[in-house]
Amino acid sequence: MAEILVLGAGMIGVSTALAFQERGHSVTLLDRRDPGLEASYGNAGHISGDSSEPFPLPRDAGTLAAFGLGLRNDVTYDIRAVLRMAPALWQYFRHCRPDRLERQARIYAEMSKRSTAAHQRLIEAAGLGNLIRKSGAYEINRDPRKAEANAVAALKSAQDFGLRPDIIDGAELTRREPAIRAGVAGAVWWPDTWLSADPGALVQGYAALFRNRGGRWATGDASTLRQQGAGWQVDSAEGPLTAEHVVVALGAWSPKLLERFGYHVPMIYKRGYHAHFDAPRGLDASIIDCDNAVVLTSMTKRMRLATGAALVDMSAPPDTRQIDRGVKGVSDLVELGPRVEEPQWFGTRPFMPDMLPVVGKAPRHKGLWCHFGHGHLGFTKGPASADLFLDAFEGQESDILSAIDPARRYALGGQ
Ligand SMILES: Cc1cc2nc3c(=O)[nH]c(=O)nc-3n(C[C@H](O)[C@H](O)[C@H](O)COP(=O)(O)OP(=O)(O)OC[C@H]3O[C@@H](n4cnc5c(N)ncnc54)[C@H](O)[C@@H]3O)c2cc1C
Repeated sequence: MAEILVLGAGMIGVSTALAFQERGHSVTLLDRRDPGLEASYGNAGHISGDSSEPFPLPRDAGTLAAFGLGLRNDVTYDIRAVLRMAPALWQYFRHCRPDRLERQARIYAEMSKRSTAAHQRLIEAAGLGNLIRKSGAYEINRDPRKAEANAVAALKSAQDFGLRPDIIDGAELTRREPAIRAGVAGAVWWPDTWLSADPGALVQGYAALFRNRGGRWATGDASTLRQQGAGWQVDSAEGPLTAEHVVVALGAWSPKLLERFGYHVPMIYKRGYHAHFDAPRGLDASIIDCDNAVVLTSMTKRMRLATGAALVDMSAPPDTRQIDRGVKGVSDLVELGPRVEEPQWFGTRPFMPDMLPVVGKAPRHKGLWCHFGHGHLGFTKGPASADLFLDAFEGQESDILSAIDPARRYALGGQ
């Protein structure tokens, strides 16, 4: 049994702490805030057991030009931030070559497939079934040609990865989801996507399970991390905490901490926003509006509209352009109702240029471990990724582990 310190209590850190605990280790989980208040709080709530799309960058000139000219709602950017992220974005572009993408998609799909079973274990143990709807997500298109192309891509992923999408027309969608108006040309239903009615509460429920099982919680600033003898030390409200192993699970803040130890992590910071609406009718499944790059999910805090990616600095002030365009775009689809007044939330997806998370041992420091970079699907992948992390911790080897191993990748000084 080892003494473990997990830094960061988002979905990834909390899942990591639980996985260590399940395998008999003594764990302290530290965050500067309460659990699940950053990216893991405000996401679209999907636990996507059937995702094989690692969010590649389109490589065709037309789409890239449309991004550049700000014509699309899936990506907005601030040019200074893009220039700062340029080396990581260039690597991202190169990893999206079709021959490389196939391998990334395979690993991505495998991690997604494992995610629902890994969540189910925790949901049952923590008694959080009331926060989960197993009703799937619809990807919708208004243009028949785009709907057709989306259906073809979905059927290909069904064949390649053993997924089971269902292709339906707009009339069937309205029959299944009466809140959706006519006008949709076609939809792909992903039945193995589960929805959380309150993503932050799910993380907090998992954190409560960790504490009920005897795990220690500490409030503190991870940036005080230092080497101490053969182990690691960090300051907390209760004084310094020391452990043999430390896991960096700080989401988008992980590169900054690792920089201090000489690791240059080329992360892409993909900010996203949400807004809530007092919609007169809710949705059972979630709607991914491909034309307007927003996701609609009914939650305990009303209808949540979540946006695509804004490439901006972490400290940039909020910019509601993507929400505003999204609201306008979905107005033909669903009656959103009045917007709930609340401070503008945003969170940052920690996205790696090769689209896969960083899971395993830091190559040049004994007892320093990495678990971050889950990008668009960290809420989904937390518990399954934590199981893989523990496999790596125990020295196991597999194709997936070598693909996500920090030491073997450019990200932390590997090849
Ligand atoms: C709009 C939006 C929609 C999304 N939709 C989905 C979805 O539907 N499904 C899905 O699977 N994923 C989704 N994601 C992505 C998902 O939310 C993230 O991948 C995931 O939450 C990342 O989890 P994390 O634990 O790595 O990071 P975070 O949840 O950001 O946690 C990092 C933790 O580190 C702590 N921390 C940072 N610095 C310090 C410090 N110095 N000291 C102490 N603690 C510190 C923070 O307080 C925080 O608790 C979405 C993201 C966004 C923004």
